[in-house]
Amino acid sequence: MRPEILFPLFKPLTTLPGVGPRVGAMMEKLLGGDRLLDLLFHLPTGIVDRRYAPKISEAEAGRVATLTVTVGAHAKPRSRRQPYKIEVTDDTGSMSLVFFHARDDYLTKMLPEGETRVISGLLERYGDNLQMTHPDHMVAVAEKEEIMRAEPVYPMTAGLSPKTLGKAALATLDLTPDLPEWLDPAVLARDGWPAWKPALTALHKPESLTDLAPEAPAHRRAAYDELLANQLAIALVRRDMRKLAGRATTGDGAIMDMITSSLSFSLTGSQRMAVAEITGDMAAPERMLRLLQGDVGAGKTLVALLAMARAVEAGAQAVMMAPTEILARQHFATLQPLAEAAGMTIALLTGRDKGKTREAILAQLADGSLNLAVGTHALFTDDVEFKDLALAVVDEQHRFGVHQRLAISAKGRKCDVLVMTATPIPRTLMLTAYGDMETSRLTEKPPGRTPIKTVTIPADRLDEIVGALQRALASGAKAYWVCPLVEESEKLDLAAAEDRYAHLKQVFGDRVGLVHGRLKPAEKDAVMEAFANGSVDILVATTVIEVGVDVPEATVMVIEHAERFGLAQLHQLRGRIGRGDKASSCLLLYSAPLSENARARLKILRETDDGFKIAEEDLRLRGAGELLGTRQSGLPQFKVADLAEDADLLAMARDDAALVLNRDEDLSSPRGQALRVLLYLFERDAAARTLRSG
Ligand code: ADP
Ligand code: MG
Repeated sequence: MRPEILFPLFKPLTTLPGVGPRVGAMMEKLLGGDRLLDLLFHLPTGIVDRRYAPKISEAEAGRVATLTVTVGAHAKPRSRRQPYKIEVTDDTGSMSLVFFHARDDYLTKMLPEGETRVISGLLERYGDNLQMTHPDHMVAVAEKEEIMRAEPVYPMTAGLSPKTLGKAALATLDLTPDLPEWLDPAVLARDGWPAWKPALTALHKPESLTDLAPEAPAHRRAAYDELLANQLAIALVRRDMRKLAGRATTGDGAIMDMITSSLSFSLTGSQRMAVAEITGDMAAPERMLRLLQGDVGAGKTLVALLAMARAVEAGAQAVMMAPTEILARQHFATLQPLAEAAGMTIALLTGRDKGKTREAILAQLADGSLNLAVGTHALFTDDVEFKDLALAVVDEQHRFGVHQRLAISAKGRKCDVLVMTATPIPRTLMLTAYGDMETSRLTEKPPGRTPIKTVTIPADRLDEIVGALQRALASGAKAYWVCPLVEESEKLDLAAAEDRYAHLKQVFGDRVGLVHGRLKPAEKDAVMEAFANGSVDILVATTVIEVGVDVPEATVMVIEHAERFGLAQLHQLRGRIGRGDKASSCLLLYSAPLSENARARLKILRETDDGFKIAEEDLRLRGAGELLGTRQSGLPQFKVADLAEDADLLAMARDDAALVLNRDEDLSSPRGQALRVLLYLFERDAAARTLRSG
């Protein structure tokens, strides 16, 4: 249960003065949450220094200043296009305040003639006169202290006023409790880090830009807290899973040998190595939790099949779970002939199998007559029982979020778990998403692949591209044409893909197909099938084209607005081609002008095909938050920590978490109790619940 001390932070923002439902809704949109806590971790990225408070005669144009003035005459505009001007003075001179499209009644109220007011804003020179257009603040003298400071600048959203947000942030700080210290006092002392609340206070009330820099002690501390919560949670969940007894799965290699000898090729060195690592883990009595990483086409599926064969050799069963229906079908199509040739029984089970078919498969899984099953999460609903499940392979492809899913999918079963991912994940991110999970990496590509030629082309040369496509298709090629899906408006994106589809149809007729996320599964499958085996030669797709889909004849990949994608994502899309023995090309279309950063990113893609290298560069150039299009990536999202900057803290947090759990396994010491608060503060409730109460 959430500790009481945190209750104030979980109250809705609308409980703050000045935050009604309308403002609250805008804040929620900006913050991604509607509680005080969400605002507390929304940190300023800059400051406006309002401490310059000159007399009018000495005031310098071009600076932000706070002045105490007497309000003089209002010069109301004679037409709508003229500004409203108000003369203000102090004992050294006079200047004008300028307003466009101002409301008389508002200005009369804010700046009554003859009164003294404090105004703050950017000073400008207009001819010989000093003026200020739309002051940021106009307040009574009593409020001067509130204004004359280094005012934090927050990332904003349209419609919300910075003043409102700033006030709400200060009000939130006032309501923020002091929390017990969860960090090691020695670390605090060594690095000169402030306590938790003072750290957040310093970040929301910066004195200068250096206070906001990543290396500022307050920032380091706040980032460290977040990473520590992440690492502690991972360590706890893992420990919890490890508590479930494992099993030793061994075999004589007979079925595995049958599979490898039926292949027309031999395993690559890294496939061999991965198989050895996996079967080694399976033979050990602990539960296996291993990640198999490798680019699309690196040959993971085969490695997984061999691991599954080992389970069958041991007289047990194995399953492979895919994130989508299409992928499940594709895996099944790949695995079935190989499995059956080696004497194993295998079935496909997805959410679409209902009634008698489903019942029959369930019965065979329960009585053990099925050795293997491939499916979607439908394999792991409550009514699915196995006679003896020894191995679950979870194919995540580019979807992360493994930890959560692992916990759900494998809970209560003592089977070993092998996760396959096609995303080369940078080491730093590995740690945040998977902790120190064991990994096998397929670094070699199977032989016989022709390298892919990658070019970048401005999008306005569309006709040339269509021409090139015509020539490629004439020689028997198939092509993917990807239109990006930008999260803000699925509808607009879809429209873009539909437009492109219509356009290409005019040129290529029925040889063009369209697939996107709104299609029903059966419709999607039909289009994919027509592309894989039928009359469709150009597949226009939003990014839903499943990364695992295997069409060796596809040798052209066109990606529109390539600059909008993450590198890793582009790399994955590119991995759809170059699978056969024919030369392939990838055309990255971009809208000029490209930013420096976008140019650098596309360049990397032209230069290398090494997924791990690309992933590291992507992290460096875009930051973790941007990787893969934030939300669907399922990677933990950090509010304060920036993995490009704070990678050293992550390693430190991992060690810290391990050490703490070693010494105080139930987190029952005073520091342990404080760490529980930390877990709940960062909403790691599930991890905290693995602890005995106390
Ligand atoms: P992944 O699952 O990593 O995307 P796959 O297992 O689908 O890759 O393999 C892609 C293709 O490469 C398949 O057609 C597979 O049969 C083939 N393949 C796998 N391993 C090898 C190998 N060692 N030598 C040649 N071809 C291989
Ligand atoms: Mg595959």
